[in-house]
Amino acid sequence: MAEEIIEEKTHDEMETEIRDTDIVFDCPYCNHNLAIDFRGAGLQTNCVNCGESVLVPIPDGMEISDLDLDQTEILKMLFATRRNLKTALIRISELEETIQIELDRKMKTEAASSKYAVQLEELNNLCKQQAIVSEKFASMVKLALSTIKNPSQEDATSKE
Ligand SMILES: [Zn+2]
Repeated sequence: MAEEIIEEKTHDEMETEIRDTDIVFDCPYCNHNLAIDFRGAGLQTNCVNCGESVLVPIPDGMEISDLDLDQTEILKMLFATRRNLKTALIRISELEETIQIELDRKMKTEAASSKYAVQLEELNNLCKQQAIVSEKFASMVKLALSTIKNPSQEDATSKE
């Protein structure tokens, strides 16, 4: 659901002009130049040109607090969660490489099985953690989007 909303936003943004707060990057699949609203940082979206699912980069040193948002805290948590997820994914791919190396070695020696088992266990644990983080992230995206869509719902009702 989150992806659909982000994607809609992307189309709208592409039709209008690029804003200062947009994240501009190239699609890794077709090199099409994409401009995504900053709130899409760290989220999955679909390339408007080739339709591939791409990860919107989080700009280095991005100052969310400069943007005068009520949702700053939510966004910070969102970005931190996304970064953790990214770190976990990198670690998983490193472990997969290591495991492949260990497997190759094992075929020759049959002796590396204990080290391999430990790493396999770590990979298994990381996969479980990643699933938890993904779920948490998805619910935070939902919360962030609903907050962004209805920024002053409480104020509006209390005035009336
Ligand atoms: Zn593309």
